[in-house]
Amino acid sequence: MKIKPSKAVIEALQKSSPEGLSRRDALKMIGIGGAASVMGIPPSLQADEESSKSDKKAKVLVVGAGSGGIMALARLRSALPNADITIISPNEIHLYQPGQVFMAAGLYTIDDVVKDNKDFIADDVNWIKDEVATFDPDNNKVITRTGEEVSYDFMVVATGIINHYDWIEGLSEDDIGKNGISSVYLNNMAKGTAKGGEVTWEWFEALKKASSSGEKPTVIYTQPNTAIKCGGAPQKILFLSADHLKKDGLGANYVLATNAGKLFSIPEIEDSLAKAQKRYDTITNKFNHNLTSIDVKNKVATFEETYEEKGAYDEDLEEYDVIEKKRMVDMKYDFIHIVPPMGPPKAVIDSKLGWQKGSAKGWLEVDQETLQHRRYQNIFGIGDVCGIPLGKTGGSARHHGPVVVGNLVAAMEGKKLKEKFDGYTVCPLKTEYGEIIMAEFNYEGLAPTIPFLDPAEPRVFWWIFDLYMLKPMYWHLMMRGWF
Ligand SMILES: Cc1cc2nc3c(=O)[nH]c(=O)nc-3n(C[C@H](O)[C@H](O)[C@H](O)COP(=O)(O)OP(=O)(O)OC[C@H]3O[C@@H](n4cnc5c(N)ncnc54)[C@H](O)[C@@H]3O)c2cc1C
Repeated sequence: MKIKPSKAVIEALQKSSPEGLSRRDALKMIGIGGAASVMGIPPSLQADEESSKSDKKAKVLVVGAGSGGIMALARLRSALPNADITIISPNEIHLYQPGQVFMAAGLYTIDDVVKDNKDFIADDVNWIKDEVATFDPDNNKVITRTGEEVSYDFMVVATGIINHYDWIEGLSEDDIGKNGISSVYLNNMAKGTAKGGEVTWEWFEALKKASSSGEKPTVIYTQPNTAIKCGGAPQKILFLSADHLKKDGLGANYVLATNAGKLFSIPEIEDSLAKAQKRYDTITNKFNHNLTSIDVKNKVATFEETYEEKGAYDEDLEEYDVIEKKRMVDMKYDFIHIVPPMGPPKAVIDSKLGWQKGSAKGWLEVDQETLQHRRYQNIFGIGDVCGIPLGKTGGSARHHGPVVVGNLVAAMEGKKLKEKFDGYTVCPLKTEYGEIIMAEFNYEGLAPTIPFLDPAEPRVFWWIFDLYMLKPMYWHLMMRGWF
């Protein structure tokens, strides 16, 4: 890419310590000071939330120090100057997870996506480097793995989502990065490692080498039947790897094997993705296919396919019944990119905090607008752990931040909860090197930040924004609760 913000700006941002920058300076450097309002950023994200501060003394606990936990922590510190704030999370390293896709594409290195979490956790916050093993909301306390009991008046749960490679029979995390298997999601939040980006870039290169040897390799990209964070990542990897080959005049038999029934839930975006597929060598879509097992040695992936069959004729309705059926389908591959099934952390599932039944069972039972727990009113949720219809992206967590903190302060003050999350979810779909469809939507449908730009159109502008601007914005603004 030739177009980018000046090198001086990027270097200054990379060198500057987060504590050394003011919000105004950071916005100016990134070049979005005035643009923030133009870009339709909700007022609650820009405001200095004077109205939602409290002088009350209270014990506030944040569980989890990833994107959501750190954003909540930063806002809580400024909203509650007299509160006694504790954060429990084991990870000394903070991962900028969206950057793993650019690592996979060979454009970022590990240094772009990791920083010390101590840069974001102020000295006046009590940081317990452990994990919550037991939530005991009836007694307003948690117990950590090492047995420490921590009580609270208010709690924010920010424990994220767990990858379950172990739910795919025959696969272990050790297989990833070998024998043609990759997964950009391979990271360990507790240890702060991001192997997914590294191994997927090696996989891109190995794929190119295989393609250049004459025979077209078969490459499968999977998407599971569970909720996942960043639902667009499977297709981002498909397009970027196909483009990596295309640039050298190479191709492959690409197979998108997804549990979904279509490319995207929003028709305009789906059409645009279908058009983008046509630019590449054969891409075959296998919808309603869920990867259940893999024969690593023989390179065979087995999917459960859900399909419909015509049943008996219904005289009353004057139509045929539709019967849903399932069958197992084996597919040979040379290369496979696996998106693991995902679920809530065990400590949440095992507690009284999760939904007790239904499709959201085990996910944190919060109201989809106020993000307050539906049964424990002193508990709020932020980020991927929330059992709500949309919002498993870092961009969603950014929008959760002011809602959670505004409502927590209101609850503390005994006032009505006013802040509402609208379901904002963002999916920067990379359709080639240098181009992104910025899919932004909420509970109502498409919700573009820049309303006059057609959100379904792939754009160079969004590529530049994502590759060069978002990362410094994440480290310098979002992690400080400023954006
Ligand atoms: C490959 C990839 C690409 C992505 N691309 C994008 C993108 O382009 N745009 C976007 O907006 N989002 C993207 N995301 C999603 C985004 O990174 C997540 O939605 C976001 O990080 C969620 O924040 P979180 O705080 O809920 O969870 P996390 O950031 O995962 O943090 C969870 C934290 O909780 C801690 N924890 C877990 N269990 C416990 C426990 N029992 N006790 C204490 N602590 C605990 C963990 O150690 C961790 O620190 C992507 C993610 C991946 C993996």
